[in-house]
Amino acid sequence: MTTYVWDYLPEYEAERADLLDAVETVFRSGKLVLGPSVSAFEQEFAAYHGRSLCTGVDNGTNAVKLGLEALGVGAGDEVITVSNTAAPTVVAIVGTGATPVFVDIREQDYLMDVDQVAAAITPRTKALLPVHLYGQCVDMAPLRELAAQHGLAILEDCAQAHGARHHGELAGTMSDAAAFSFYPTKVLGAYGDGGAVLTADAAIDEQMRRLRYYGMEKTYYVVQTPAHNARLDEIQAEILRRKLGRLDEYIAGRRAVARRYEEGLGELAERGLVLPSTNPGNEHVYYVYVVRHPERDRIIEALKQYDISLNISYPWPVHTMSGFAHLGYAKGSLPVTERLAEQIFSLPMYPALPEDLQDKVISAVREVLLAL
Ligand SMILES: *Cc1c(COP(=O)(O)O)cnc(C)c1O
Repeated sequence: MTTYVWDYLPEYEAERADLLDAVETVFRSGKLVLGPSVSAFEQEFAAYHGRSLCTGVDNGTNAVKLGLEALGVGAGDEVITVSNTAAPTVVAIVGTGATPVFVDIREQDYLMDVDQVAAAITPRTKALLPVHLYGQCVDMAPLRELAAQHGLAILEDCAQAHGARHHGELAGTMSDAAAFSFYPTKVLGAYGDGGAVLTADAAIDEQMRRLRYYGMEKTYYVVQTPAHNARLDEIQAEILRRKLGRLDEYIAGRRAVARRYEEGLGELAERGLVLPSTNPGNEHVYYVYVVRHPERDRIIEALKQYDISLNISYPWPVHTMSGFAHLGYAKGSLPVTERLAEQIFSLPMYPALPEDLQDKVISAVREVLLAL
């Protein structure tokens, strides 16, 4: 049987009664779109973060896109972010009409190199978009300082960092607004698509609500365009409410898998295997468990014989893909991003990953690396 890098079926088996009850609750509620479950989830998700306001949207890409629009980002503006991210981060920026500007990442954590941001700021820069990639947060203090100095907005991309902490603060509470995805693989995942934008600013939240609902302020009355239909689905919201109550358990489960990998694989450092490291002040939630080795492709090939299927997050830096060629970044322009993209790969990671499969992964990786 193949060991997958991610699988929701063990979780579904364990939570089936509650999840089916969530669906039944919505079907019997008499309100299938923007009903009681979306409102309740918005309030509960905001409360989890100690923030006041949350708007549910249909996916994480639109959370980033509408979030930026609610911050006033549009055509002619520049948004500073990274090329080592899920492509949707950048698809969303382009979708607003703004131009993405990339800075390189750091060798030790694959996150935005905040020391490069100041030099990337131009008179057209409108917002900074740090991505809390893989489950730990970007250094926010220097970004906040730059934003204050230059009058920029900050949107956190928290699609991979639900529940992660940075010097005690939760991801999504350290900026003007934060975008979340509830795509099924995420740390808080729906059984389909979903997203949300968190903020403490009532004007931003009101703008989010108009942007997701045809630009309407009240039913049938549009007050602004362009706008979208980007509502969070009622069924997904009710499922997310149930799962939000278990978010801290999911995170604990991910950390337990990470500890076991560290114990089992730590000594392979002398064989060139680099395990994830957590920055001082960060509490990692391990959305993915990204390791690195110069012989990455040979290792992945060899692990197929053990029936272990691995993933690469991400094989192509955004600026090297043909869909972003118009941005004009030459190969070699982001050297750390490009080099690490050839070495990183992800080991299976999800809270319900059975211990025997964790052991299978550990012994297979050990055998393959010792035989290289
Ligand atoms: C998943 C993800 C998104 C997009 O979310 P969707 O719900 O798939 O649209 C955006 N940014 C990052 C960093 C992601 O991991």
